[in-house]
Amino acid sequence: MIDPYFNENDILLRNTIRDFVEREILPNASKYDLNEEFPSDVISKVSDMGLFKLGIDENFGGVAGSNMHLAIVTEELARGCASTAVIYASHLSLCAKYIDKFGSDKQKALYLPKLVTASTLGALALTEPDAGSDVAAIKTLLTDTDGGFLINGSKHFITNAKEAGVIIVVASRDPSLGYKGLETFILESPCEGLTITPQTGKLGIRASSTCELNFNNVFIPSVNRIGEAGRGFHMTMEVLDIGRILIAAQSVGIAQMALDASLKYSKQRRAFGNSISDFQAIQIMLANMATEIEAARLLTYRSAVLSDYNQPFETEASMAKLFASKVAVESANQAIQIHGGAGYFAPNVAERLYRDAKVTEIYEGTSEIQRILIARSLLNR
Ligand SMILES: Cc1cc2nc3c(=O)[nH]c(=O)nc-3n(C[C@H](O)[C@H](O)[C@H](O)COP(=O)(O)OP(=O)(O)OC[C@H]3O[C@@H](n4cnc5c(N)ncnc54)[C@H](O)[C@@H]3O)c2cc1C
Repeated sequence: MIDPYFNENDILLRNTIRDFVEREILPNASKYDLNEEFPSDVISKVSDMGLFKLGIDENFGGVAGSNMHLAIVTEELARGCASTAVIYASHLSLCAKYIDKFGSDKQKALYLPKLVTASTLGALALTEPDAGSDVAAIKTLLTDTDGGFLINGSKHFITNAKEAGVIIVVASRDPSLGYKGLETFILESPCEGLTITPQTGKLGIRASSTCELNFNNVFIPSVNRIGEAGRGFHMTMEVLDIGRILIAAQSVGIAQMALDASLKYSKQRRAFGNSISDFQAIQIMLANMATEIEAARLLTYRSAVLSDYNQPFETEASMAKLFASKVAVESANQAIQIHGGAGYFAPNVAERLYRDAKVTEIYEGTSEIQRILIARSLLNR
């Protein structure tokens, strides 16, 4: 069968990751989720497969890989464990790719070889207690000092920060300048003046760590500033545009597992002398899920392919994230409905997916922000 989006290599990649997820990730996904435990052994295995190298400059240890490849990997990982998918995507698309795209050769030589093996994990620290959707409101302050900069302030909700050895920090030279005052830095963690506090008790993606960061006169050498002064906002937005494709892919993976689990259960579960899959009410839910997942997947692939061909893709990425995250939430909801009471209790996979799905409508730009971006682009056209 001809696949309009996948060539043979893409199919091989997808099948390889799917087998790996079935074998190595699915069996323990609930355990890590329920214990709020970082899946270190899974991340090592993902690294052993070379997946952290994808799309990173080959001169610094990476291998060729398109955004479509990253979307395929993220979708398949999320099918098994949404936490693993967000650890992967945050490390690769928000940190390693940030340095790969905007870092100096010196920065790339120093950090990328560690990031491509995930011997050092990466994070991006953008969000603050008073600056979430409104990135221009960032208050974390940078001041010049001998040989570099001092950073003071705080961040929260930062994925991977506890485990990360490399954190990209977005700070402001002067908060009154708004987005024009933002600059980005590579911070090696741990370091003097930096306190990292895990924020536990998340609804979903509980195996990934999310942390608060406090900076008290944290020194960053001048060579660790990424790009030119005043470019911080634009560079970060470019990174988030690709990041949104991967959150869309994560959403598709969550939704696909909701469907797969529902198909399996509906054939096994009997009521009134029939498999519940014989009931039209259940079939309608399955049909709706399958159709919407396919539509979400196509939007996701479309934005990935456009970005790979260097075409404008930002609006399409917002559409993909907006739609796919909604499909993830709805599909997980339907999966619980199909599982009945059994789906309401951990460690049932439907229960985990229901909790994991919600965050896809929040991080890397809420659904409201995606609508604003889409509308802005429509009205500007
Ligand atoms: C589990 C998790 C992991 C995360 N990981 C990271 C990370 O690794 N790095 C990082 O920097 N950040 C991370 N975040 C932060 C995430 O990106 C923000 O939570 C998100 O951007 C929303 O910001 P906020 O929480 O401050 O919400 P707010 O901006 O306060 O928004 C609250 C509500 O108001 C709405 N709203 C805001 N502005 C508007 C507007 N103009 N028009 C209409 N509605 C509006 C929002 O859509 C939302 O519904 C993470 C968050 C979570 C929950």
